[in-house]
Amino acid sequence: LAKQTGGSHYEFYRSEIGEKKAERLELLKALRRALEQREFVLHYQPQVELATGHIVGVEALLRWQCPERGLVSPEQFIPLAEESGLVVPLGEWVLRKACAQARIWRDTGYPPLRVAVNFSACQFRQKNLVDLVKTVLDENELPPECLEVEITESTLMQDTTASLKTLQELRACGISISLDDFGTGYSSLSYLKRFPVDALKIDRSFVRDIPQDTDDVAINSAIIAMAAKLNIRVIAEGVETLEQLNFLRTEGCAMVQGYYLQRPASAQDLALILKNGRRGDSSY
Ligand code: C2E
Ligand code: MG
Ligand code: MG
Ligand code: MG
Repeated sequence: LAKQTGGSHYEFYRSEIGEKKAERLELLKALRRALEQREFVLHYQPQVELATGHIVGVEALLRWQCPERGLVSPEQFIPLAEESGLVVPLGEWVLRKACAQARIWRDTGYPPLRVAVNFSACQFRQKNLVDLVKTVLDENELPPECLEVEITESTLMQDTTASLKTLQELRACGISISLDDFGTGYSSLSYLKRFPVDALKIDRSFVRDIPQDTDDVAINSAIIAMAAKLNIRVIAEGVETLEQLNFLRTEGCAMVQGYYLQRPASAQDLALILKNGRRGDSSY
């Protein structure tokens, strides 16, 4: 009897795994179709320079407009896209789309913006990445200063020799590199010495509870002070309140990004925001 029960448990377990697998397969199929059918869109979130209140950059953030599932967040499909390798063609689409959009904004006469694009680890490992980036910039007649590549600490750690080479080549062309979600990965400070980056993005988990949480206050102050000494730009992510903004300003954080300033918006909506220039100075 015991054996039988065990057996049925096992069957149950196995069918649950089977279901998960089937679900993933289904999602992957849908993602492949989405790429062909152009179901992806980019939203853009302003990055604001605190000293001037100017929008000096935007981060391109991927959205999937799925006919069956509605608007799907990247958190729900990027991991699978990474595992399956689909993130490589998808990432190329993101890069092309973001640069084409940057061209449109320039042609419209807005002040030059830096567009930040998220690269996943396997994209960063692609041998032809630097050529691709250069080609896309050329095709859109954009100077390299227009582009910022966002990678995470774990991307740097995965294949340090190759990563270092890619990083140096991108920077040699004038493209800037920022370390996303800074402080949440496993990299040590020696990586900052070895891998030359232009900017650190303080992860929003450290920003959420400032200025109340004294540990987070210390972490933010330390990152900002260290970056200043290393001559690295700092962007605080996930700024949702005026209190957070004021704290970051006092600490000397140069740039901020978050819902308090602006939620990610469609290219169309962002054009209106850019047209109106800086968002009411009085609020920050
Ligand atoms: P990320 O690169 O760290 O992007 C910041 C995320 O924080 C975005 O989520 C953004 O909408 C959200 N955010 C911005 N301000 C606030 C705020 O004030 N409060 C809160 N709670 N959240 C805020 P999103 O767009 O859902 O993207 C999630 C992640 O998906 C990104 O994190 C990035 O890792 C990944 N991702 C997005 N687009 C791409 C892409 O084109 N390629 C790759 N490889 N990954 C992408
Ligand atoms: Mg990012
Ligand atoms: Mg981040
Ligand atoms: Mg993230």
